Amino acid sequence: MFKEEDQIYEGKAKKVYKTENENEVIIFYKDDATAFNNIKKGSIQNKGILNSKITTIIFNLLKENGIETHFIKTIDERSQLCKKVTIIPLEVIVRNTLAGSTAKLLGIEEGLVLDTPIFEISYKKDELKDPLINDYHAISLKIATREELDNIYAQTKKINEVLKKFFDKANIDLIDFKIEFGKDSNGKIILADEISPDCARLWDKDTKKKLDKDRFRRDLGEIEDAYIEVLSRIEKL
Ligand code: 5GP
Repeated sequence: MFKEEDQIYEGKAKKVYKTENENEVIIFYKDDATAFNNIKKGSIQNKGILNSKITTIIFNLLKENGIETHFIKTIDERSQLCKKVTIIPLEVIVRNTLAGSTAKLLGIEEGLVLDTPIFEISYKKDELKDPLINDYHAISLKIATREELDNIYAQTKKINEVLKKFFDKANIDLIDFKIEFGKDSNGKIILADEISPDCARLWDKDTKKKLDKDRFRRDLGEIEDAYIEVLSRIEKL
């Protein structure tokens, strides 16, 4: 279906291929896993397949709820046909429960449930370790305009509401997640990249067991099993 010479980009977890349609690309999900800005490298068996399936379910759910994404259709178990977008170099992070970098930054124990979710943005730049910035940085450095940020935050709020309810039904707490947006050929800002256990913290509601990439980051074992568990729970909904 696609040839190596058509590859236009290779990231840490995915490869992007051009297609005959200049407005569409094929995204291939790899098993490679990295953490701590590439310091820890490894591979999680079948991760590409699992993340592609999980993202497909979530992006279809978001579409049903009026949120446009880059996803067009599944090609095979590791590949998706997607709209070509220009990624806005921001990682948009939502925290419903404090964990990870912000818990560390503020010296607060992981697990504090937040009545009001925290929205953060970081500047997508590997060599700087994706530094946390605020709206003023983004606007002054022309990464996004005020109107674009308002649009991104409004979509992010809705995505969080839909996903929280969805994972709730799977007996999973959506602790936090990172999303990325891009501009399509008409300049419209739409959700891109993926939503999977690679970029979201997912804890079992009863046992608080981590069902996400923290199992890889923190050497907790049973990584593939955790991703399989997430997929099997959301497939049933
Ligand atoms: P933290 O800032 O606590 O490390 O991450 C917050 C959330 O965003 C977590 O769910 C984490 O998986 C996700 N996240 C933050 N930065 C990245 C990144 O560079 N890549 C991926 N895949 N996820 C990220």
